[in-house]
Amino acid sequence: MSIEEGNLAELLSVDEARQRILSQFSALPSEKVALSVSLGRVLAEDIIANINIPPHANSSMDGFAVRAADLQNASQHNPAKLAVVMDIPAGTFPSAPINANQAARIMTGAPVPAGADAVIPVESTDAQWSPGDNTPLPSSVSVFRALKSGDYIRPAGEDMEAGQTILPAGTIIRSAEMGVLAALGQARVSVTSKPRVVIISTGDELIEPGYPLSSGKIYDSNSYMIMALIESIGGVPHRMPIAPDSKDDIRRTFAAAIAQHPDLIISSAGVSVGAFDAVRSIIDELGAVNFWRVNVRPGKPLAFGHLAGIPFFGLPGNPVSAMVTFHLFVNPAVLKLGNRPDEQQIIKAVIADDMESDGRRSYFRVKLTRENEAITARLTGTQSSSALTSMVAADGLLVVPEGKSTVKAGEAFDVLLLRSLTLI
Ligand code: AMP
Ligand code: MG
Repeated sequence: MSIEEGNLAELLSVDEARQRILSQFSALPSEKVALSVSLGRVLAEDIIANINIPPHANSSMDGFAVRAADLQNASQHNPAKLAVVMDIPAGTFPSAPINANQAARIMTGAPVPAGADAVIPVESTDAQWSPGDNTPLPSSVSVFRALKSGDYIRPAGEDMEAGQTILPAGTIIRSAEMGVLAALGQARVSVTSKPRVVIISTGDELIEPGYPLSSGKIYDSNSYMIMALIESIGGVPHRMPIAPDSKDDIRRTFAAAIAQHPDLIISSAGVSVGAFDAVRSIIDELGAVNFWRVNVRPGKPLAFGHLAGIPFFGLPGNPVSAMVTFHLFVNPAVLKLGNRPDEQQIIKAVIADDMESDGRRSYFRVKLTRENEAITARLTGTQSSSALTSMVAADGLLVVPEGKSTVKAGEAFDVLLLRSLTLI
């Protein structure tokens, strides 16, 4: 991987930073997994039907396979009488054709015999049977109506034709896709490997949830939040134990992270200017990392580069900054690794109140409501970058562009949706 040498003083736009980051990632190789555990995975190869589905023309009703020409004049008052020459339960294949004025009893899904070009449903005949009973095959059947050729027959290949590309590479396997793969007999599928991501929290103040909180300490929320973010976009997160702010602890934790050979390492905290610089000196020692000043609020600064060849993000420590930075920079990178489309939904919303921005591109946590035709955005209370509940309440991140410091009520801005608009 080539990481261009970063200039400490350089101020990058969000888009430039994202482009530089994305240029360092490509989709992971594929792996074969059992179909039963493939839900949500991304197909790594085109799925081409090797058989017709259905394999044979088959009946869509319980009834009798017939020749439509024999029933041309059939009616309630003038039934057509046909000789029943064969029984075709599901799972069997008819050995002989039917001839003129003959019929074969047939069950839904069973293959239609040669010679037959339609199926008459049992309800339109004088025959009777109920599912599961062993009604003997009648010697003849009276049919009370006419049919067109092809009626109640599902042609071979109606659903999928041999040779046809059914699911292109890149398709996400949902329930319907899983059914299609099973219908094609694929017990194992080739999918893009899941990005494996090691997550590191650094800071003397951090305590693992579940342990008592002593004075001066806070619980580590970032690594759980990042774990959830990774999992929600198809990655496999692995949290390291919290690394206190000593060089030895940080070196040991980062070395242990590297030893797992993950696809990505993410740490939070310890990279801000003026922060105790243990993290900065250790990541300098272990790899090549740029400390970017990105023109964004919240979220400055951002460390990006590699540690022993493994891509690395150093996110800010403040939980909201870490989360917003994740959305802007880590999310697209992990999606690219996993060969998933970046489907960030953006809508226009009208801001309800006047507010100030600071000239950086700013991401405000907003609650959205539908008012008449427009969607209105209101700040979710405090915008402090340490107040995680502002993210809980947020429907989206409203983007005030760089260079803009005064925002008037009624102005429209882009909002990156954090939840489905149908819930708003
Ligand atoms: P730092 O970048 O180390 O100066 O951290 C900035 C702020 O984020 C400080 O108030 C930290 O206590 C807080 N912080 C850092 N890491 C975490 C974490 N894992 N969970 C919650 N807050 C954190
Ligand atoms: Mg710290």
